[in-house]
Formats: sequence, C-alpha cells, structure tokens
Amino acid sequence: MKIHEYQARELLADAGVPVPTGHMVQSVDEAATVAGRLFDEGASMIVIKAQVHAGGRGKAGFVKLVKSRNEARDAAKFMLSNKMVSPQTGPDGLEVKRLLLADAVDIDKEFYLAVTVDRANNTATMIASAEGGVEIEKVAEENPDAILREPLHPLLGLQPYQARKLAFDLGFKGKQVNQAVKCMLNLAELFRTSDASLAEINPLVLTPATDAHPDGQVLAIDAKFNFDDNAMFRQKRIAAMFDPTEENPAELRANKFGLSYVALDGNIGCLVNGAGLAMSTMDIIKLHGGEPANFLDVGGSATEEAVREAFEIILEDDKVKGVLVNIFGGIMQCDKIARGIVGAAKEIGFKVPLVVRLEGTNVELAREILEDAKADIDMMQSATDLTDAASKVCAAVTG
Ligand code: GDP
Ligand code: MG
Repeated sequence: MKIHEYQARELLADAGVPVPTGHMVQSVDEAATVAGRLFDEGASMIVIKAQVHAGGRGKAGFVKLVKSRNEARDAAKFMLSNKMVSPQTGPDGLEVKRLLLADAVDIDKEFYLAVTVDRANNTATMIASAEGGVEIEKVAEENPDAILREPLHPLLGLQPYQARKLAFDLGFKGKQVNQAVKCMLNLAELFRTSDASLAEINPLVLTPATDAHPDGQVLAIDAKFNFDDNAMFRQKRIAAMFDPTEENPAELRANKFGLSYVALDGNIGCLVNGAGLAMSTMDIIKLHGGEPANFLDVGGSATEEAVREAFEIILEDDKVKGVLVNIFGGIMQCDKIARGIVGAAKEIGFKVPLVVRLEGTNVELAREILEDAKADIDMMQSATDLTDAASKVCAAVTG
C-alpha cells in the first residue's frame, strides 16, 4: 500500500524526523487561502506540491516555489487542472486531486536516505547518498559507488555506530552529525514499526547556517512510503491513510471479491488461479506472439459469484479482444469455474473469443457443464493443454 507525501510527513514528524509543517488542500481557493495565511505569518517563500502516488514531480513541473498568494493560486490551478506525466506515471499521466503547501526551506545540500528490503542479502537495508535529489536514479546507474548501504540487524535494527558511519561518509560535520544520526535511527525504527517495505526521504536536506542554526538544519522535505498489505490488519493508523482514488478501479473491485487483478498493455484477458500459473500463462501467450491485457488470479477458494465477477472485470476492459481461462484445479474446483463461465455468459455475454483450458479437481463435471452450455456460448473453444490454449487464443485475436 502507498500513501501520499503529506501523510508520510506526518509519520516522519511523529517518529522524530524533522519535517517542515505542511497543509493538504483540495481546491484552488483553499490553496490561495492557506498560502495567504502562511505569507501573513512571515513565510517568504512556500512550496506547492502535487500529491499523487508517483514521483518525478519536480521535473514534471508539479513542485513549485512561489513568493505570493497569486503565484500560489496560479500554481495550484495548473496542478489541479493538468495531468502529471513523469517516468513513474505512464504516458496518460495522473490526475491531481490534492496539494501540499509548506514553508519552503533554503537548501545547502540534498541527500538521499531510505530503508528498504535488500532481497539479495535477505535483510532490510539503509541506503544513503550525498547526491540526493531529483537525479538519484541516474546516480544509481552511472555512479553506484555514491550509494552507501548499511544492513539492519534483524532484531536490533540500525545501530548507532552504523548511523554515525553513514553520517560521516555523507560528509556531515560537527553538530550536523547528530542531527543526521537521529534522522537515520528514527527512520529505521519507523520502517520496522510500521511494516513498511520502503521508507524513503529524497531529499533529506541540509539548510545553510543562520544565526538561529549556526550548523544548519537537517530536514526531510520529501517522503515516499510503501507498506506490506498483509500487515495492514495491525497497522490501523496506516490502513486509514489508504486513498482509493489513487488506485486502478478494476483492481479495487477485484480486491473486494478476494481476486487479484493486474492491468497490462496487451489484448488477451487471462483468468487463472495462482500467481505461478499466471506467470507461465503470460509467458506462453508471449511465446505464441500474443500480449496479455491483464491477469486476474482467482486464487484457490473463489466462489462461483467471484468467478463471474472476474469475467465481468476482464470483459469491461475495451482492450480485451480474447480471453484465456487457464485453471489447474487443486483446492479450486473446476466446476465452479465452469459455472462462473456459464453465469457470465448469461449475464453479460461473450462478445470476444474465449479459450478454456481446465485440468484437475472435478474437471469431468466441469467439461459436462460447459458441453451443456456450448450452444449458448458460441465464442467458446476448449483446449487440451496450455500450448494448445495459447495458440488458439493468439490465433483468435489476430484472425
Ligand atoms: P519529487 O520530484 O517528486 O521527488 O519532489 P520533491 O519534493 O523531492 O521536490 C523536487 C525538488 O524540488 C527537490 O529535490 C528540491 O530540489 C526542490 N524543492 C522541493 N522543496 C523545496 C523547498 O522547500 N525549497 C527549495 N529550495 N527547493 C525545494
Ligand atoms: Mg523527491
């Protein structure tokens, strides 16, 4: 599960990572009012940022520094009425429904600081770089030595000596070191206690020296978090931050029925059970020259109703020109799938070719059900095995 930056900032602030106070708004008028208030309270510059579940906002023009209430209004209007397109959004871009307004900070230097799971080493790891900011992907690719790593102990978490080492290696000096160490330890602890899979601050900034802060301040000014969906039952506060408007509607609808749906770019809808079978189904479709439009995994224990729903979700996608059903009945009984197919045919009808390959528990019964319904579902073909199924569906969508 993902959350917005303004929510991530709340978590960081509560965990003891210093963050400038922000305000979330949902309209141009609200943005102008809040900006007016911040300027009245003495801000000389404020930052306006689109709140969407994707990064790359700065380069896309969706992070703007403004110096007056009118500039704030214009920036808010631009962001709320244009879709944001960045390398992380796909070509259609994302609609922006929320904005964050905060006092802008002066920046001396930008750092990258994150905790995520290092799968190769089977451990949560702190990642840091003195070359943080909007070019971090390029740094990782072109200058991997500029990315520092410290593994977290599975029980003890990040140790103070590790944080101090990172802080020195990043180039923090004097009293800045303790500020950076505190951010690192608190971020690592937040990662652990919130069941996060990614806790990223980019940039973590060092502000220039001032009379009030002669060593500068270490502050988080952007944050991105991902959480483990399977832990949300014990993370009530984070679960409540879920924003359904940022999710794919078909994926949400599938989730309600205990199905997992992933939208892809091709034209063959895939109804399968089990992630492994989904992967091999997509591979074999590609091997036969086709492209999957999605995969919908009905899992092991879906009801007939859920199977019918699954077909509706697949068929409502205009891109879908053919459907491949590939089921290996273990716990899932093939006759449930067959009944789901018959039910979906009655309720919505199949206007595109359907190829069905069933094997396993209750397959004989399933074949009888489909045989009896054959006259009513003239778009249906059955397949003897996976290769046969893939070649039939690929032929059907190209032919
Ligand atoms: P992202 O592009 O989606 O990662 O958005 P960020 O919040 O990281 O902002 C992008 C860039 O805008 C940062 O790397 C900074 O260089 C700049 N920026 C963001 N907030 C401020 C701010 O308060 N003051 C200044 N001077 N620059 C900022
Ligand atoms: Mg950023």
